[in-house]
Amino acid sequence: MKEHDIIIIGAGIAGMTAAIYTGRAGLRTLVLEQRVQGGQIINARKIENWPGDYGVSGADLMNKIYHQMNNFGVEIEFEAVVEIHEKSGGEKKQFLVKTEDSEYSCGAIILAMGTEPRKLSKKQAADAGKRPISYCATCDGALYKDKTVVVVGSGNTAKHEMKYLEGICKKVYHIHHDEPIPEDAEAVFVAIGRVPETGFLGGLVDLDENGYVVAGEDCKTSRAGVFVAGDCRTKDLRQLVTAAGDGAVAAEAATKYLRGE
Ligand SMILES: Cc1cc2nc3c(=O)[nH]c(=O)nc-3n(C[C@H](O)[C@H](O)[C@H](O)COP(=O)(O)OP(=O)(O)OC[C@H]3O[C@@H](n4cnc5c(N)ncnc54)[C@H](O)[C@@H]3O)c2cc1C
Repeated sequence: MKEHDIIIIGAGIAGMTAAIYTGRAGLRTLVLEQRVQGGQIINARKIENWPGDYGVSGADLMNKIYHQMNNFGVEIEFEAVVEIHEKSGGEKKQFLVKTEDSEYSCGAIILAMGTEPRKLSKKQAADAGKRPISYCATCDGALYKDKTVVVVGSGNTAKHEMKYLEGICKKVYHIHHDEPIPEDAEAVFVAIGRVPETGFLGGLVDLDENGYVVAGEDCKTSRAGVFVAGDCRTKDLRQLVTAAGDGAVAAEAATKYLRGE
């Protein structure tokens, strides 16, 4: 089993910023990412509130951060974490991090799993049947050119998806999260918010009633040695700058923890 000082779960902006800090601090750092690096922002075409790079696309911004991270000896593996345990015994506290294929050991962890789109209710999923379900009109809208689709959701994201699809599709229905899916819709676009990807944590750390990891601005969780950064933390503002800020704070706290400071 490969040993690291620290394992960071998630290669979104929070996790990669944390890795830049721990890598620069000389910690043997492993980032585990279940999909591709970049996180939820990678499909955004234009970001207007990232300081210093007005209008940058999500993909370009995250690519730059990924290459910056690679300068500091950080390892990355593309595997989904499925379980974490604190190991018993031994002089120093150690954690066992299991993925579908491997097991890793480390002295500290930063949770940076972000959020994923909320899924349809059971009833609506049954209604949708075998029809394709998408969570991103910009990514998949072109597949339904001149077809009939439905957007589920009532917030700003749903409105944005509607507007985008209206430029491509023959007809776009708009329904709320509890309404039946129209029979003639050929694809379903879901925009009913996002939820934290914390289900696999079990009882490792305290979560709030919505599944977010409970921690304040110091990014310390209820368990010593486990820190949290970014959108999966309890907080008021989920944005790129706050996720990056968390990454730095969590990395600094974890570095001090590992050095016994
Ligand atoms: C469409 C859209 C537009 C946005 N526009 C803006 C904007 O203009 N400005 C702005 O400031 N913010 C914007 N945001 C919000 C911003 O994207 C988020 O606040 C930020 O990306 C959160 O970063 P994060 O690193 O915490 O999480 P994420 O970006 O969600 O990254 C988490 C990563 O963890 C991985 N992961 C999860 N579970 C596991 C696991 N078990 N094992 C391994 N890996 C795992 C995920 O695959 C993901 O890559 C936007 C969000 C969306 C969806």
